[in-house]
Amino acid sequence: CHNSILTGPIETTMCDYETIESVNDELFGNLSELVEKPFFRYFQVDLYRECPFWPDDGSCNNPGCAITSVDEGEYFDLRLVPERYTGYSGKDAQRVWKSIYEENCFGLSELNLMTGKSPAPVSLPDTMIEVLHEDEQESAAQCLEKRVYYKVISGLHASISTHICHEYLNQTTGEWHPNLNCFISRVASHPERLQYIYFDTILLLRAVSRLGPYLSAFDYCSTGTHEDDKETLQTLTKVLDIAKDAGAFDESILFRGENANILKEEFKTHFRNVTRIMDCVGCDKCRLWGKIQTTGLATAMKILFELDETALDPRANSDLLQRSEVVALVNTLFRFSESLKAVDTFRKLWQEMDAAE
Ligand code: FAD
Repeated sequence: CHNSILTGPIETTMCDYETIESVNDELFGNLSELVEKPFFRYFQVDLYRECPFWPDDGSCNNPGCAITSVDEGEYFDLRLVPERYTGYSGKDAQRVWKSIYEENCFGLSELNLMTGKSPAPVSLPDTMIEVLHEDEQESAAQCLEKRVYYKVISGLHASISTHICHEYLNQTTGEWHPNLNCFISRVASHPERLQYIYFDTILLLRAVSRLGPYLSAFDYCSTGTHEDDKETLQTLTKVLDIAKDAGAFDESILFRGENANILKEEFKTHFRNVTRIMDCVGCDKCRLWGKIQTTGLATAMKILFELDETALDPRANSDLLQRSEVVALVNTLFRFSESLKAVDTFRKLWQEMDAAE
C-alpha cells in the first residue's frame, strides 16, 4: 500500500499527481452537487440489448445486481444505483475483461507493457513492418497512442475495482465497509493501475475543459425547476474552472505520424467494440455503470481526438452531442474523482493499521 503514494509528473500529460490531489476535494464536492441535479441524475439507455459476441451473458442472479428503471422504462436514477460490490464475479465477469484486453487492446497487456516485450505490431501494413528493425517493431507496437488506449481501459478497470473495494459487502454481517485488503490486492499492489486512474481523470478533465463553451451553452432546462437549472449552470462553471487548470492532457502529440488515420480508425473500432461488450456484462447494475463510463470515455476521446475548435463551437454546432453523452461524460468524471477520494480513505486506513501494529 506504500505504492499508493504517488508523486511527480504523470506520463503523457503535462500534469503531476500533486496537482490532481490538490484539486480533487473541490472537484469531488462540486461534482457531487452537480450529479444530484435532475439533468445529470437521470440517464437514458437501452440496458437490455443482446450480447453480440457470445450466446449467454451469464446473468447474475445476485440481488445486488438488480436495478429498476424510472417512468418510461429506459431512464435510470443514478443516485439510486451506487457503483459498489454486487457479487458479479467468476468466469462470466472474467470473460468480459479478458475479451476487452485480449481482443480489443492492440494485444497490449500489463506484462508486455512492463517488460517492454510486445506482441506483433497490429496497426502497420505488413510491407512497413518488414522494413522495420526488430527493436523498431517493438516500439511501433507500443506507440504512444496504443499505450494511451491501454491506460484508458486499465484505469477504468482500476476505478471500478476501487469502487467495489470501497463499498464492499461483508457477507457475514451484512455491513458495507471499505475493504483494505481488496484494494491492496486489486489496485495498490499494481501501482501502474493506480497511476492510470489519475491518467483517466486528467484525460476527462481536459475533455470537459475543451467542451467548456459548449457545456455552458447547453440547454439544461426542461428537467428541473428554474432554480435547479440556474444552480446546475453555476456548479458546472466551478467544475469547468477546475478542469481548465488541472486538465493538462496534450492531445496534440497523438495521431501525428504517417499512419495516424489508420491508427485512429483502429483505436475507434477497438473502443466501439468495448462499448458493445458492455451488453455482455451479466449484472444489470454493473452493465449500467459500464455503459455510462464507456460512453463517457468515448465522448471524451471524441472531443480530444476528433473535434477541432470550430466543431466544438456551440453556435456552429449546437447538436454536437446528445444529452446522454453529456450526462455520461460528467458522471464518468465523477466516478474517477470518487475513486481518488476512496484512495485517500485507503491510505488513511493503511496508516492506522500501520500505527496499530
Ligand atoms: P477482475 O477484476 O475480474 O480482473 C480480471 C483480471 O484482469 C485480473 O485477474 C487481472 O489479471 C486483470 N486486471 C485486474 N485489474 C486490472 C487493471 N486495472 N488493469 C489491467 N489488468 C487488470 N463487480 C461489482 O461487484 N460491482 C460492479 O459495479 C462491477 N462492475 C463491473 C463492470 C464491468 C464492465 C465488468 C466487466 C465487471 C464488473 N464487475 C463489478 C465485476 C468486477 O470487475 C470483477 O470482475 C469481479 O469483482 C471479480 O474480480 P477478480 O478479482 O476476479 O478480477
